[in-house]
This record gives sequence, C-alpha cells and structure tokens, in this order.
Amino acid sequence: MAYTDFLKQQCYIDGKWCDADSGATLDVTDPGTGKTLGTVPKMGADETLRAIDAAEAALPAWRAKTAGERAKILRKLYELMIEAQDDLGELLSREQGKPLAEGKGEIAYGASFIEWFGEEAKRAYGDTIPGHASDRRIVVIKQPVGVVGAITPWNFPNAMITRKLGPALAAGCTMVIKPASATPYSALAIAALCEKAGIPAGVVNVVTGSAGQIGSTLTGSPKVAKITFTGSTEIGRQLLKESAETVKKCSMELGGNAPFLVFDDADVDAAIEGAMISKFRNGGQTCVCTNRFYVQDGVYDEFVEKLAARVKAMKVGYGLDEGTEVGPLIDEKAVEKVEEHLKDAVDGGATVLAGGSRNERGGSFFNPTVIAGVKPDMKLASEETFGPLAGVIRFTDEADAVAMANDTEFGLASYFYARDLSRVWRVAEALEAGMVGINTGLISTEVAPFGGVKQSGLGREGSHYGLDDYMELKYLCMGVQ
Ligand code: ADP
Repeated sequence: MAYTDFLKQQCYIDGKWCDADSGATLDVTDPGTGKTLGTVPKMGADETLRAIDAAEAALPAWRAKTAGERAKILRKLYELMIEAQDDLGELLSREQGKPLAEGKGEIAYGASFIEWFGEEAKRAYGDTIPGHASDRRIVVIKQPVGVVGAITPWNFPNAMITRKLGPALAAGCTMVIKPASATPYSALAIAALCEKAGIPAGVVNVVTGSAGQIGSTLTGSPKVAKITFTGSTEIGRQLLKESAETVKKCSMELGGNAPFLVFDDADVDAAIEGAMISKFRNGGQTCVCTNRFYVQDGVYDEFVEKLAARVKAMKVGYGLDEGTEVGPLIDEKAVEKVEEHLKDAVDGGATVLAGGSRNERGGSFFNPTVIAGVKPDMKLASEETFGPLAGVIRFTDEADAVAMANDTEFGLASYFYARDLSRVWRVAEALEAGMVGINTGLISTEVAPFGGVKQSGLGREGSHYGLDDYMELKYLCMGVQ
C-alpha cells in the first residue's frame, strides 16, 4: 500500500463515491512544494441536502444497534486506521505540511478517539432518581441527538474529525462532515476506512466544497440536530447565529490565546521542554499552542537564553524530509500574520533572539522565532499568531501575571511552571481556561475533556464528557398504581 491508495478525489455520500453535480473541482496543494496533489469535488447546497437526507435515513437502524455492536465496528475502524498509519500519516503531511513524525502521530492520536469512544459507548449509563412522590418512579435515559453536521479545520485534518466522529457514532448519531478545503484528503480517507469497516451507507458522509454553502445548508436544515465545529471564533459565532434559527445543539472548539507562565520556583529546563512542544508543535498552528510567554524576573534571562538556543537549532524543512522539525505554514496568509505580529513587536522595541524572517526555502516556510522584551499591549499578546513565533514578556508579581494571562476574551489552554504547591493551586484555580497544563506543555489526550471557556467555545471533546455532547437526556416519570 502507498499513500496514493488513500487519496480519494470524490466525496462520500450515502455510501457512494461521487462528484459535484456541476462537475466542478477544487485543487488541493502541498504547502511544502506548492504543487497540486489532486482535486476534490466543489459541492454546494444540493449535494449537502442529499447527504443530510442520507444521514437521516440511516439514523434509525444505526441508533437501534446495541452499543456493543457499534463498538465492534468502531474497533474495526480503529484497527484499520492503525494498520494504515504510515500511509495516512504521509497523506496528511503532504496536504498539511507537518513533519511526517507528527503526521503519523496524529493518526495514532486520531484513532485513539475511535477506540476510546467505542469502548465508552457501552457505559452511556442513565440514572434512577428517588421519586418525589410515593406513586412515582423516575428514570433518566440517554439517547443520540440525531444527525450531526461537523465542520473541521486544516491544522489536524484527521484528529479534529475523529474526536467528533468517535463520540457521534458511539452515541448512535449519523454525520455529515465538511472538512477544510486545504486538507480534504485525510477526511475522505477516513470515509474510505468507514466503508471498509462496515459502517452502513449514510451513517458517515463527507462533502467537500464551498464552506459558506455547505455550512449554511447544514445550519439551516431542521433535520440536522447538532453542529460541531472546530475553527476560528469568527466562523464559530456565525455558525451559532445560523443555528439559532432551528435551535440546534452546538459544540464549538474555537480560537485560543494560550499563556505560558514561568515562575521563579520553576524547573527552567523542564519549562523549556514544555515551551518547545507547546509553542512549536505543528509549526505553532494548533489552537492550544502557547501564544505568549510570561516569565518572572528571577529566571527570565536564563529562560530566554535557553529557549533561543533551542529554537536556533531547529530544522526547518519539507514535512517528508528526515529530521524536519518545522514544516511550512499552511499558506501565504498564515506567514503574513506571523510577519505582522513580529513587526508590531519589533517596532515597539522587542528584540529578536532567534529566527525573525522567512526561511530561505521560500513559499510558506518561516524560521522559528524567539523575541524578548515583548509588552502586554503588543498584537501577539492579544491575537492568536498561529505560527512559530515565541514572544516573551517579563513580570515581577504573581497576581499581575495571572491578570495579564486572563486579559483576553479567549480561554482555551494555559500552561505554567512552578513548584511551590500553594502557588500551583492558586494559579491553576485562577487561570480562566478550560485546560491548564501544570509543569507540562502537552495536554491533549482522548481520555480528558478538551475545550474552552469564554469565547473559546462550548462543550467538551474527549473523555466521557465528550460522549454526553452527542446524547440527549430523557427523563421518564412513571406513575405506579
Ligand atoms: P481556520 O482556517 O483557522 O481553521 P476557519 O474558521 O476559517 O478556521 O475554518 C474552519 C472550518 O470552517 C473550515 O472547514 C472552513 O472551510 C470552514 N468555514 C469557513 N467559513 C465558513 C462558513 N462561512 N460557514 C461554514 N464553514 C465555514
């Protein structure tokens, strides 16, 4: 097998591979070479409506299966993904640009949601509640929400789908998926594996094409019970507005602006390790990537010096080349955003300690960068950079640092390094974020609830809480004569 065996250039609707009604296509580009990898159909409202109808038609039989039956099929899907890990990882790296090791890692991470939720399906327990009257009994059951519309981003083309698909299928829901146009092949490869795993026609549908048309058809359809979205806060807000018309359930995993705090009592070397992984994974293009560093006076100089040394040694290259640690950014616009934040900081007096320019390879390659002397009012402290730019701000007082960390409308991930136990509790409780990494820069796992507070989103993905987002509670009140 090779990655080309998983490169599907058609959409998957109602168990059939199909083209757009108009025959129109979109090109998909390898951001590392600028060359076209292939095309996908440019679909719109009509094809989306057909996909929704297929998902609706497939729902009764899929939700009627026992959780154990669905779990067996999900287990099969998990095994197929792991068997194909190398090829799927390569396909992902080619369309997204991330280093191959990260691409393969994402497949394992993505597959873990399928495995986890298949197992978890069997534990979607309800509740019995002592009745409020002697002639009444109360039981609470959980049922699938129904047809789910999923809209997913390009930064994790596999895992951002599977952590929606896993719980949706486990719960007994059916799905229409609209992947990002930059990275549709990983989504279509998942559809191919769903077919191979024996998931019935209509249960999973993948539609590529016009984001606006497909999105508004999903949000506008009364047949779609839920929208699950990962992407920017701006588009999330729009989808929430559109979904209000038919009062859909919504899960929104939106933008972040993660702070990373290093206190005087921290293990600085460990903090550097955490900083590297939380800032530079996927070239800084994850919603939980550190966006701003706050480092206390006593360790500031040591931290910036060590961070700059590590970053200077990073290897920028094509995702599939041996030893590459930082691949290209997704496109030119992404590079321009990094440049804008860098210029704003340097104009305001910040100092470049590593990188600071585009890479000699051209295209959308940018050198990983460290800048010191950043001020809290600079752009990179308030807007998500989504690139390999680490800006370090100095602080003196713990309460001031926490206040600066919280001074944002976002509240997804946050990180801090400290060893004093009381401080660890104080800061962990005070940070306004859905997730806090304490003495670690890597927090993503299928077993824990991932999600944000404030304008970073609604709902949680992963863990048993993630299954609840795809289920409705139904309360049964029984009279006993
Ligand atoms: P990012 O590009 O930072 O991942 P976006 O919010 O722009 O964030 O994109 C995330 C997903 O939302 C992609 O699949 C994109 O195609 C989709 N999208 C963009 N605009 C719309 C829209 N108007 N309606 C529905 N989906 C959209």
